[in-house]
Amino acid sequence: MIFCQRCGAELPPGSLKYLVTIHVTADFDGVLPAEGDREDLEAFMHQLDAEDPVSLENDVYQSQGYLLCPACKRTVLADPLGLARDGEDVGEGGRVH
Ligand SMILES: [Zn+2]
Repeated sequence: MIFCQRCGAELPPGSLKYLVTIHVTADFDGVLPAEGDREDLEAFMHQLDAEDPVSLENDVYQSQGYLLCPACKRTVLADPLGLARDGEDVGEGGRVH
């Protein structure tokens, strides 16, 4: 049996369910460090050489998928950044606590 990864509801075969995929990529604004920061940059590059390739890759690009029931999909889309505070209504089926 498959379960919603947010609320744990059963998702029987043939039921409506959603795969919510989050892609996170490092943003580059086109600005390179100024001349004075070169030494910092070199130290940073040396540090990169020593670092674990997997964690390094996660710093640049990360993708995660979650299988959700319809109610949880609505809740996640209504407040994807988790900005709603306790007690605030984030929409149909939105209350978590
Ligand atoms: Zn759910």
